[in-house]
Amino acid sequence: MESMLTKLAPAATRLGVRRMSSLGPEVDVLLKDKAYVNGAWIGAASGKTFQVTNPMNSQVITSVPDMNAADVSLAVDAANDAFQTWRGTTAKYRSDLLRKWFNLCVANHEGLAKLLTAEQGKPLAESRGELVYGSSYIEWFSEECRRIYGEVAQSPVASKEMMFIRQPIGVVGMITPWNFPNAMITRKVAAALAAGCTCVVKPAEDTPLSALALGVLAEEAGIPAGVVNVITSSRQHTAEVGKVLCESPKVAGISFTGSTKVGKILYRQSANTIKRLGLELGGNAAFIVFDSANLDLAVQGCMASKFRNAGQTCVSTNRVLVQESVVEEFIGKLKAAMDNLVLGDGMKDGVSQGPIINKSQFDKICEMVQEARGQGAEIVVGGEPHKSAGELFYKPTILTNVTESMSLYREEIFGPVVSIKTFKTEEEALALANDSRVGLASYFYSENISQCFRVAKKLETGMVGINEGAISAAEAAFGGIKESGLGREGSSHGLDEYTNIKYMCFGNL
Ligand code: ADP
Repeated sequence: MESMLTKLAPAATRLGVRRMSSLGPEVDVLLKDKAYVNGAWIGAASGKTFQVTNPMNSQVITSVPDMNAADVSLAVDAANDAFQTWRGTTAKYRSDLLRKWFNLCVANHEGLAKLLTAEQGKPLAESRGELVYGSSYIEWFSEECRRIYGEVAQSPVASKEMMFIRQPIGVVGMITPWNFPNAMITRKVAAALAAGCTCVVKPAEDTPLSALALGVLAEEAGIPAGVVNVITSSRQHTAEVGKVLCESPKVAGISFTGSTKVGKILYRQSANTIKRLGLELGGNAAFIVFDSANLDLAVQGCMASKFRNAGQTCVSTNRVLVQESVVEEFIGKLKAAMDNLVLGDGMKDGVSQGPIINKSQFDKICEMVQEARGQGAEIVVGGEPHKSAGELFYKPTILTNVTESMSLYREEIFGPVVSIKTFKTEEEALALANDSRVGLASYFYSENISQCFRVAKKLETGMVGINEGAISAAEAAFGGIKESGLGREGSSHGLDEYTNIKYMCFGNL
């Protein structure tokens, strides 16, 4: 760690890092106020910038370039030029570079984690967890890279040989969200690079610094200029930047993680150029507690899936469905576990829930809870902001008497609010859980093995946690069905989005 920092520091100074002594030296070497295009740290052509603030206290951390359509076109050109060389490199070469990048992420673990907490607000322990998770994708794809195999088929004609090889699709435009500012980037970029693609990454406007820090380390790892480009844009320019990525004939694919609403815009915009699309969109995860469940495990799983990142994840539990006979006991145990949550500055030891990312998300949570109360939901605990911790804190909340007409039941609340509805039978629980246009993750708890198989198969989601509330890993195929998206990230399938199968037929042999 020490030697790595010493090694990075002079380069970082030379490149004009803005030093923020308050975040510490290990963050300073990673903190950038420029975008990373074609191996250079540059501003927007317009000279415009926007501020990145800490959601804990609204303090400005730094400013980054506010890039527009013209800037992103240049980044696409750079990625396209770099692709002409990168596509021809060996898997071993790419694997070695990814491994170097991974090693640098590990060496800079603490700096990356602190930067993440500063711009995103999640507790430092969670940021460290995200870093381990995010870096694991780089490690995983450095390994998978060398196992991108083809096939030789049995030809029906003796004079022909039929072969399929996998080739990189080309330049990939990546648009990522603010809830996992590191991991949502690494699981796209590492897979793309492993396959031989190059990329232009547009991180969320709330959290561009973790993305730029990954750029610092990619450069340090020796990944060639133009292979990874990171451009930053404010909300004002996001739509035009996204449009260029979707419409440019030089971009072969789009990989997006974010809301279903924006995913649909990108899907539509990509139609003219028939892009390859990877869409990781919103969910509305049901968390079902059957009467056969081990309630202590269920509470543990509910805490993990609901309160991680203050409920701001796309696989967060959104609808807790509990069998009538165990609801009181479950609520009692859940409330006791929630009493242990500590709200505050994520940089401080012992804090387990940070602020909500921004005012508009915060207001949305307040409005949804208000609306549910107006329609008859009852508050067991919480149900209001927690002003003493800061402007953007919301109390861990349990609501009962939740009905299907309430918007917090139909849409992701993206906050620390547990909405509970009871059911009588397994059939009713499945009907409730599957009554949704989205299908990302679901969870259920049961000690009945037959029920476990039955329910797991019938739930209409891409991922199911069975007696488990934390399901994500680089080894796992992450993705949804219905309006939750297309494609899978992680696992060996994570490479599929970035490769084309070419069929070669050798005739007249
Ligand atoms: P959220 O509402 O949680 O911020 P979004 O789907 O709006 O989720 O944001 C996810 C990512 O999509 C962010 O990087 C954001 O800047 C980007 N984004 C938002 N609107 C558009 C758009 N019209 N075109 C392209 N990207 C967009």
